[in-house]
Amino acid sequence: MTDTNEKHEGGCLCGAVRYALHGAPTYSAHCHCRSCQHAVGAGFATWSGAKPENFEVTKGEITIHESSPGVRRGFCGNCGTSLTYAGDDWTDIAVLSATLDDPGVAKPATNVYLDHKQPWVILDEKLRKYDKFP
Ligand SMILES: [Zn+2]
Ligand SMILES: [Zn+2]
Repeated sequence: MTDTNEKHEGGCLCGAVRYALHGAPTYSAHCHCRSCQHAVGAGFATWSGAKPENFEVTKGEITIHESSPGVRRGFCGNCGTSLTYAGDDWTDIAVLSATLDDPGVAKPATNVYLDHKQPWVILDEKLRKYDKFP
């Protein structure tokens, strides 16, 4: 846990799963990869990071789907809301920013996996751009 009292809560659509991030998100980024597009059923997914020790499930439990070897995508087993991303070669856990109670606290700074971007997605050109992952 961090020594700050900053805390950001979030959860799924039905309320069965709730979580808290302690401290400010370590990053926020739009990911345009095809796996994220499928996982969230949208043109891209917006993620916010947290150190694993600063992420806490406060209600219910997260169901895990291994979408690629070593990649664990978490969702609510009741309503299906996509919630988290964790990977073996990944130090932070990521939550889908839109599942935060106040998504405004996680303003994205970056677009990643633009190789997979859908042509109908319009980018904010002020954000950092990466064809794959930095
Ligand atoms: Zn749910
Ligand atoms: Zn992705």
